[in-house]
Amino acid sequence: MKVLNIGSLNYDYVYSVQHIVQGGETISSDDLAVYCGGKGLNQSIALAKAGVSVFHAGMVGEDGILFFEVCKANGVDITFLKEIEGKSGHTIIQVDENAQNSIILYGGANQALTKEYIDSVLDHFAEGDFLLLQNEVNELSYIIEKAYENKLTIILNPSPYNEKIEHCDLSKISYFMINEIEGGQITGETEFDRMLEALKIKFPTVKVVLTLGADGVLYQDQSNRYKQDAIRVKAIDTTAAGDTFTGYFIAGILEEMQIPEILKMATKAAAIAVSRKGATDSIPVREEVENNKSLTF
Ligand code: ADP
Repeated sequence: MKVLNIGSLNYDYVYSVQHIVQGGETISSDDLAVYCGGKGLNQSIALAKAGVSVFHAGMVGEDGILFFEVCKANGVDITFLKEIEGKSGHTIIQVDENAQNSIILYGGANQALTKEYIDSVLDHFAEGDFLLLQNEVNELSYIIEKAYENKLTIILNPSPYNEKIEHCDLSKISYFMINEIEGGQITGETEFDRMLEALKIKFPTVKVVLTLGADGVLYQDQSNRYKQDAIRVKAIDTTAAGDTFTGYFIAGILEEMQIPEILKMATKAAAIAVSRKGATDSIPVREEVENNKSLTF
């Protein structure tokens, strides 16, 4: 059984500014920090930290050397990661003095996936293998079709939610990993119970993990529904909370743990991640989650 994540890799350029730049204005930035991120990469790192052997597939540009290094440093397999001509995906993020941000996203190599490339990667995976997807690369619909044909178990985090998701055959997904905003966008509902009901009617075979930030998580499959409260912690930085949860949830599924136990483990990992600064740096490794005795439910 193998685990593949076909997903985005972005350089995040984070500029500290007094205020967000206005039209026609030039401002100076007091500070610049550069991170390797992207939902795809973050989730591969979360999987690896949770103890899963994961192959990350996707594309980076000629400037993409750091992604190979970051994957290697975190134990993410780069056999299928491909460098192409042009620029890697990147974001330009301004953060002002009130911690408000504004983001420009340039898809770059993340939007250059070809059907040939996707076929060549998926040819190495078969029934029993798992595929994790988000919505930051192109050809999502094709990837789902092809992976379903190859009988892979598909886990989709439909983030960011947009019309591309509506063009995908979501009935071919085995697990949705969604937050309350995405739950609302998919179903048009605002109450969590109604979101779950609507999802059950629309996609009866899809298992749903609906994360609710500090309110915890709801899980639903054909016969069961579970709720797990979050752990009360002082939240310092909630970046990558959902990605951490995803990594640990999948680890639990692969290990055939019981769902309530999986929700507990992922909740603990996410609580550790939100209590410290950073994106992938804040994701704890498995040992840390298991040995942490100070966080209790
Ligand atoms: P996303 O980052 O995708 O929006 P959520 O915000 O729903 O995801 O968070 C995912 C999980 O992280 C939650 O289900 C919860 O377990 C944990 N979490 C998020 N915010 C907090 C918080 N303020 N305190 C404790 N746990 C949190």
